[in-house]
Amino acid sequence: MRYLPIFVDLQTGPILLVGAGELVRAKLRLLLSAGAPRIKWFATDGDYDAGVDDQAAARIERLDTAPLEADLSGVVAILCAGAGALGEAVSARARAVGIPVNVMDDLVHSTFIFPAIIDRGDVVVAVGTGGASPVVARRVREKIECILPARIGELANFIGRWRKPMQARLPQMSMRRKFWERIVDGPIGALILAGRAQEADDQLAGISDPASYASAEQDGFVTLVGAGPGDPDLLTIKALRALQDADVIFHDDLVSPDVLDRARRDAARVPVGRRIGKPGIGQDEINRLLIEAARKGQRVVRLKGGDSFVFGRGGEEVAALRDAGVAYAVVPGVTAAMGAAAESEVPLTFRHQATRITFLTAHKARHAEAVDWSVLTDVAMTIVVYMGLAAAATIRDGLLKAGRSPQTPVGVVARATRPDAKAVVGVLEDLPDLVQQVDGGPAILIIGNVVSHSLPWREAALAQYASHLQAAAE
Ligand code: SAH
Repeated sequence: MRYLPIFVDLQTGPILLVGAGELVRAKLRLLLSAGAPRIKWFATDGDYDAGVDDQAAARIERLDTAPLEADLSGVVAILCAGAGALGEAVSARARAVGIPVNVMDDLVHSTFIFPAIIDRGDVVVAVGTGGASPVVARRVREKIECILPARIGELANFIGRWRKPMQARLPQMSMRRKFWERIVDGPIGALILAGRAQEADDQLAGISDPASYASAEQDGFVTLVGAGPGDPDLLTIKALRALQDADVIFHDDLVSPDVLDRARRDAARVPVGRRIGKPGIGQDEINRLLIEAARKGQRVVRLKGGDSFVFGRGGEEVAALRDAGVAYAVVPGVTAAMGAAAESEVPLTFRHQATRITFLTAHKARHAEAVDWSVLTDVAMTIVVYMGLAAAATIRDGLLKAGRSPQTPVGVVARATRPDAKAVVGVLEDLPDLVQQVDGGPAILIIGNVVSHSLPWREAALAQYASHLQAAAE
């Protein structure tokens, strides 16, 4: 390590910027967003338009004297960006008077360099490569951006606010450290990261005996995570983080093994799925397991296919956790409809042609019969049916009876976003035949004119055209 990372307090004095063009403007934006109250600027081309709003511009002072003659007292650092030959001279002067100086893209004339920055408010990560490769620094930065929760800075800020009051109540330093570890790792920290600052404040304020809180068993936390339709790359960054953090994962059958592979290696995995026709664990039992694990102090992930709140019974689990006083958060997932639509290129809405979407479930013929098909007759409505394979005939009959055209385009997309995905398209009157062609579920049905824009539809049309041509030639 040749360069020591240090953090400069921009409140202690102005930074002097010398240069022109986009390079200097980018540095101005960086300094302004870092909260610099005063920036001195010498624009080598005389153009002092920083391209920022008036409030920000008020923090920028024009340097009227040439930088080689200017009074540098109090200046905390000097930056030359796009300053040309002047950079070298300014660097010599800065060094002579002992002010840190950076000449952009010029290590020889710089006494400090800029890291790649991950900015989360009070939490800042600086990545350096000793000036060797900004591209490598940027790649490292991207990786860190993915693992650092967006609200980690708010967590630091929260602790900063409570530090003083807690210091008085916990005079012993080792106890204090334990206390803050419990806050950061426990449900209160999780609340902050979930954006529920008020609840976190209330809970911390409600701790009557911080010393026993610090030494008691850690409370657990449940995160309901949407696993998406199968492709693990469709996990959200938050979902991935929760999986990497989990002690135990209660997952459905629908969750693909590839997704589970992304979880922390030593997390316990408990299948709680309930395949149609097979008796599984009941919802009450699942709720009980979640609460029990959380009460043992575990970081619990409840992992469901797609999104927990789309035919996922997430609402019931949240209610049970709330009633039990267990802390929880909900992380959305890509629901099967979205995964299938993207993969098969079905635009679920389309200007003028499709202006509404309905997601419905027709779990078994019995449920399908209970659907009020008459509200689904609008030709500008796209209908997505979950769990609809077995009830295909009932769905077709219901929609036809309600007045939908037998020629309405339909698609059946099975195992969407998985390696063995299969999509077939056709028209509504043939729906029961189409569902036979996908070799089993999970599958969704998409019904509506938008299906005619899909990839399989276009491919089928091409194939038909080709066979017409061939027949004509024969
Ligand atoms: N919460 C899930 C839905 C659970 S209901 C979600 O948001 O996607 C189960 C139904 O979802 C299946 O019967 C099927 O209709 C649909 N489904 C789930 N994964 C699918 C996939 N990869 N491809 C097609 N349909 C899928």
